[in-house]
Amino acid sequence: METQGPSRRAFFRGQFLSKPVAVIGGDCLAEAGIFCRSCGDVCSASAIRFRPRIGLPPQAIVNEAACTGCGECVGACPGEAITLGAARHGDAS
Ligand code: SF4
Ligand code: SF4
Repeated sequence: METQGPSRRAFFRGQFLSKPVAVIGGDCLAEAGIFCRSCGDVCSASAIRFRPRIGLPPQAIVNEAACTGCGECVGACPGEAITLGAARHGDAS
């Protein structure tokens, strides 16, 4: 019989072997028009860059390939907008 979804091996590899990375949510102050770079300032891996936008403060973008999952940015975020989670697309830009 055909099975749906990932194999057990793939599931457990994904759950336990992939490193967590910083994930920036919608509570980022920049989305409310407030300029902030706190996450980038504390990231010793330089894994957060800021994409310029017209009409809004620069948007924080996590380079998942560079992120070590250290969590420093989580506590530094005044908007409590950052969590650690599974990498989504391995942005190496
Ligand atoms: S978890 Fe650590 S390495 Fe990743 S973006 Fe935050 S401060 Fe940088
Ligand atoms: S520290 Fe938080 S509020 Fe500030 S730019 Fe980073 S994600 Fe946005």
